[in-house]
Amino acid sequence: MVDLTRRFDVLVIGGGNAALCAAISARRAGASVLVLEGAPKFYRGGNTRHTRNMRCAHDAATEILTGPYTEEEFWNDLLLVTGGQTDEELAKFMIRESKDILNWIVEQGVRWQPSLGGTLSLGRTNSFFLGGGRAMLNALYLTADALGVDVLYDAEVVDLRIEHGMFLSAELKRPVNGKTEVRASTLVAAAGGFEANIEWLREYWGEAADNFLIRGTPHNRGSILKMLLARGVQDVGDPTQCHAVAIDARAPKFDGGIITRHDSVVFGIVVNKLAQRFYDEGEDIWPKRYAIWGRLVASQPDQIAHIIFDATVVTSFMPTLFPPIAGQTIAELAGRLELDPAALEKTITEFNAAVRPGTFDHTILDDCRTEGITPPKTHWARKIETPPYLAYPVRPGITFTYLGTRVNRQARMLMKDGKPSANMFAAGEIMAGNVLGKGYAAGIGMTIGSVFGRVAGREAAKHARN
Ligand SMILES: Cc1cc2nc3c(=O)[nH]c(=O)nc-3n(C[C@H](O)[C@H](O)[C@H](O)COP(=O)(O)OP(=O)(O)OC[C@H]3O[C@@H](n4cnc5c(N)ncnc54)[C@H](O)[C@@H]3O)c2cc1C
Repeated sequence: MVDLTRRFDVLVIGGGNAALCAAISARRAGASVLVLEGAPKFYRGGNTRHTRNMRCAHDAATEILTGPYTEEEFWNDLLLVTGGQTDEELAKFMIRESKDILNWIVEQGVRWQPSLGGTLSLGRTNSFFLGGGRAMLNALYLTADALGVDVLYDAEVVDLRIEHGMFLSAELKRPVNGKTEVRASTLVAAAGGFEANIEWLREYWGEAADNFLIRGTPHNRGSILKMLLARGVQDVGDPTQCHAVAIDARAPKFDGGIITRHDSVVFGIVVNKLAQRFYDEGEDIWPKRYAIWGRLVASQPDQIAHIIFDATVVTSFMPTLFPPIAGQTIAELAGRLELDPAALEKTITEFNAAVRPGTFDHTILDDCRTEGITPPKTHWARKIETPPYLAYPVRPGITFTYLGTRVNRQARMLMKDGKPSANMFAAGEIMAGNVLGKGYAAGIGMTIGSVFGRVAGREAAKHARN
């Protein structure tokens, strides 16, 4: 049983990738470490449970990566997706450190496997976890346990005592051996974003937030982030910015995970509830565009849209939990989707007429495009003309929010007056906004958590032991 009468060197709040990397790193640096995971043991690991891969720079092909991905190329990709809204110094630091993470994470027991194919196109840039995020977490928890890290589950933190930028103690919702106060010399906050807090999302999105589906854990309600910001930590990031993808409208409100995400947009068209197209479905390679579709659907009436395709492409992408809705005619499909049949027929007829001949290849920016319609489909445009006609209804699926705590290269939080906190560090989603002002490139979430988690743990241990 964990002894809460003692004072730990490092207290880690959270139980996902960032928390575990911090805990292991701090313990390896000689600190006593307690991890407080708000979720029950079975659901430990927050959004990390759902992950598949991580983006790291590397100078040469590896056993599982098909070629080099230089620091410069990673930086250019980040610049592109964020439109320059990133802290250059921190981002370049993260990218440099990511090279070492490829080996470091293996030393912590995690194993890699070759990339999944399909539309992901990540074989050169992203390393896939053997067995996925849960297996990755299991390896980290086993290592943490072997090293002597203490872990408490069902251990939601409901208050933090912070004075003049100095962490003193945390308050648990449920007592452990009659005690709710946890004391430590340093704090690593790794408790995720506020994506599962619909009331908080509503402050920025209004009633549209009620139609959002949350792809990951219901435990990331942003309570720790809120407390830190209220107690003088400097914020970073736009509260409306987040990673959001189009997921099946039939998905559960929380925790639907990866099996509800649709990667079929490039193979068809997307229409809103008025049966009208609203964005170029072929703008860029899917890993650079999949994360804009949540926001796009969020700005449509009633936050609903439909991916429409035909029988010829149905085996081109990974099947999801829900089967497509089918109709032998466009009108029949429209009826099943509760769309106006005439409007959908018009949209598809106009689209088909605008398609120019080309050679289809979804792995490159091919020459299959439309001409003379708005919005255009600039690549991968092919006629939708072979029944059965098929559709997936989609809603915004919020992955994680970007508002966070500002940190420096030691992952140390900065206070509102610009001074570094005496003993508070942050890693993962809770500080993702330092690197991600907007946009996303697949696999960066885990890079942020691993790099800054490792740094935060090491620095927290150093501070505590001095
Ligand atoms: C479906 C899905 C698929 C994804 N796939 C990928 C992918 O392949 N690659 C990638 O890079 N990223 C992916 N992401 C994003 C990725 O999950 C996150 O960026 C990453 O896991 C964040 O790690 P973290 O440790 O910061 O947060 P989390 O793993 O979410 O951990 C946060 C932890 O904090 C705990 N917590 C929250 N509040 C409290 C509290 N008050 N007290 C105690 N504990 C608390 C939670 O229980 C949770 O354990 C995916 C996300 C989802 C939802």
